[in-house]
Amino acid sequence: MAFKLLPLPYATNALEPHISRRTMEFHHDKHHATYVDNLNRLSEGTPYAVMSLEEIVLQTAARPEEHAIHDNAAQAWNHTEFWNSMHPAGGKTGNDIDELLTEQYGSYARFRQEFVNAATGQFGSGWTWLVLDGSRLAVISTPNAGNPLTMGKLPLLVCDVWEHAYYLDYQNRRKVFVETFLDHLANWERVASRLRDAGVMAPVLGGVRAA
Ligand code: FE
Repeated sequence: MAFKLLPLPYATNALEPHISRRTMEFHHDKHHATYVDNLNRLSEGTPYAVMSLEEIVLQTAARPEEHAIHDNAAQAWNHTEFWNSMHPAGGKTGNDIDELLTEQYGSYARFRQEFVNAATGQFGSGWTWLVLDGSRLAVISTPNAGNPLTMGKLPLLVCDVWEHAYYLDYQNRRKVFVETFLDHLANWERVASRLRDAGVMAPVLGGVRAA
């Protein structure tokens, strides 16, 4: 059973004007596809061929001799996470998320600054994440194919800061790309749903937030 490249959860032009169709086509159809192709080639005939991406990422994390399969599985997982971290009508935190960010960071603006700093401070390629670390939120960056699951942290939101994610649209301006990601694309609905599943945020019952 080969690993499959999942389709994007929206049309390739759905994130315009913030991310162009051309970027999405290259990023999903070429870059993401290559990681999936590599993973299929590397896992064929091995026990990894029947594992989930998460299992491969976790089982190979501490095994340097398996770095190629680890990196390709993690990149395949991270990209799906990135597509789902964005929404054409994203960027709106909503009351529950606002409360949580304000409680922990003082304000949404301070959280935003911390996320932008982490993304621009990541030297070279990588990923900037909002994660759940125990019962606390944390902003972290991971280099290359790094994945918070290997650190026991639950990913909530991720921005791809490899140059291929923004170079066609923003050239070297990573900061503007990350600010645009947060202001217009970040899928906070999904973050809220993960936090509810994790028991950190109260569930929504019949459209009314539980006390
Ligand atoms: Fe990427």
